[in-house]
Order: sequence, then C-alpha cells, then structure tokens
Amino acid sequence: MTLQERREQYLERCIESLKSWKDLIAEHLDDDDSTPELLKLKETTKGYCDLDHDYKKSLRALEQVEELLDKTEGRSGDEVEQLYKEKLKEDSTTVEYTDSDIWQNVFEGITDVMEVKQKKKKLRDNQFDELEDSMFCSNVFTPPVDPISKAVIREPVRSKKCKHVYERSMIIDYIKQQKRKAKCPYIGCSNRLLQVTDLVDDSNLQSQITQYLEAQDSEDEDTEEDD
Ligand SMILES: [Zn+2]
Repeated sequence: MTLQERREQYLERCIESLKSWKDLIAEHLDDDDSTPELLKLKETTKGYCDLDHDYKKSLRALEQVEELLDKTEGRSGDEVEQLYKEKLKEDSTTVEYTDSDIWQNVFEGITDVMEVKQKKKKLRDNQFDELEDSMFCSNVFTPPVDPISKAVIREPVRSKKCKHVYERSMIIDYIKQQKRKAKCPYIGCSNRLLQVTDLVDDSNLQSQITQYLEAQDSEDEDTEEDD
C-alpha cells in the first residue's frame, strides 16, 4: 500500500469516528448538554480540515519544486529545501471549513453546527431553507448530500463495494466521464474502481428521502402563507 493510500484509509476512519460522535450526541444528549459537546466536535473536525489543507498545500509546493528541478540541474539539498519553503509561503490559500470535503462528510448537509441553533438558517442548498434545533437533538433523518453536486440526494444509488451513496444521474455521468477509471468521489474512500454495475438501489433510503422532501415542501407552503 502506498503512503497516499494509507493516508486516505486513516482519514476515512477518522471521518467515520467523527460521524459516530455526532450520532451519539444526537441520540443521548439533550439540548443543554449537546451544545458544548457539539462545539468540541466542531473544533476537532476543524483540526482535521487544517491537517488536510496543510497536506494538500505541501503537495502543491512539492509539485512546483519538482517542475523547477526538471528544468534546472545541479541544485544542492539546501537549495531544494529553500525552494520548497518559498513555494509553501507563496501559497496563500486558507481553509474554508464548511466547504471542505471532510466537514461536508461529517455534517452531511448541515453547513454549520452552531448555526443549526438559529432557526431559519439559510443553507447552501436551497432545496430546504429551514432547520429546526431538533436536527441534532433527536433522531431526525438527515438527508445525504451528493459528493459531486453537494446537493441533497433525491434519487440515491449505493455502491455495493464501499456502501457510499450518490445521486443517480450525477454518479453515472461521472463514471462515464472518467472512462473506466472512476474512483469513489467521497474523500478518503479507498474504492478506486467504481462501475455502473456496482450501483444498487436503496429503497429504504429512497423512502426516507421522499418523506423528508415531502415534509420540506409542505413546510414551505406553510411559511409562504405567513409572508
Ligand atoms: Zn466510497
């Protein structure tokens, strides 16, 4: 196994444990106790986002150094190190936590945990623009978000191999685009070959999503009358 694959595997495990932490909070803690615990979860998740960001940054710097080295020969080790440090400094990208794949994975569809506390919070996804506190404090169904479109999945299909779910049309297009070399688009997933024949329906999830969307629609109608 390459270092890269091992890293992805660890990252996937970390994300899984963060998700079960979130589930435990939702199942066992009431409003008052869940707030500090959610803060801790949020901070820990940020830590992983930072690590991931630093890692990607150093990869980019390395690539640039490698390119430069191809063009010029006879550089000393010190010079190479210096070059690497310069390239790192030049990269001024910052972490957008709620946009990061790790965050999206852990909080599926919820852009910011603490903001869930505020009613009428607008989500990135305009398919539903209101979330109640109960989202985190009870076993309310959270719809899965497609890793490609980042929108709530309406027609789910599941990979038989890695069990991840995707929006049907999105993943089929994606597999076609990648020509037989499609890797599961979930960050950290070690499934390196995803094929259309691996995709199966998940009727249980489909009915939960349908119910969820119907509930959203009727809420929308209610709020329209208020306005
Ligand atoms: Zn996967």
